[in-house]
Amino acid sequence: MYPQPSSQTPSPIKGEGEFYYSLYYNLLKENILANIKEIFTSIQGEGPFIGYKQLFIRFCGCNLSCKYCDTDFSTQNSKEYSKDELIKICSKNSDCHSVSLTGGEPLLNKAFLKEFLPQCPLPVYLETNATLHNELSEIIKYITYISADIKLPSVTGLEPLWDKHDKFFCIGKEKILFAKIVFDENISNEEIKISSELCKKYGIELILQPKMNGKNLSVSSSYISRTMDKFLQHYSKVRIIPQTHKFIGLE
Ligand code: SF4
Repeated sequence: MYPQPSSQTPSPIKGEGEFYYSLYYNLLKENILANIKEIFTSIQGEGPFIGYKQLFIRFCGCNLSCKYCDTDFSTQNSKEYSKDELIKICSKNSDCHSVSLTGGEPLLNKAFLKEFLPQCPLPVYLETNATLHNELSEIIKYITYISADIKLPSVTGLEPLWDKHDKFFCIGKEKILFAKIVFDENISNEEIKISSELCKKYGIELILQPKMNGKNLSVSSSYISRTMDKFLQHYSKVRIIPQTHKFIGLE
């Protein structure tokens, strides 16, 4: 956890009190830290920017609990970083296409990102579950690319999140935004229709990503092909792109 102004923060008053309040608040701001699980360089293995070298910053914590999740975003063995430390790491990796903010859900760190992103020397690529539109609106001006999940109840085991995704896309559409759907053999025709119409509403590319079981696809190639045809009945900007980094053994 990083320190934030709390309800105990003294209220600003004119004169000397105001000066000390502002000094106190700026000290807190300077010391905002983020819990980060890992930082590494690798090749982007998903979506339309597949194959680019990226610096990955994996934040701890997530606001969802998808049943297929295979990502460790717990705070165990994590480390706290300041914005200055991250800026230095980004500067040392200037050969990367971009810095991927991933998780967990990186937008949970909105206060930290508001401090870090204005000075980030690499283009910012946000990987998000696309449910936190208020948080996105506060940092969107610093972001170049958004890889936004559409979470299907059939694969996540969660309640539908259509409304949250809609609000998120409405804000994200001003950037290079695409949607990504992880699917398995349980995807329903209703999910196909609603998610296609959502992407059509904003004209964004829809990437279908078959769920993996370890290094293997969870569905057959004929099922993948049939699923794509079903999406194409509703929307044309649809592509199938599996997770390639798992095939080639990269993180
Ligand atoms: S949103 Fe992503 S990180 Fe969070 S639980 Fe779902 S799959 Fe895991």
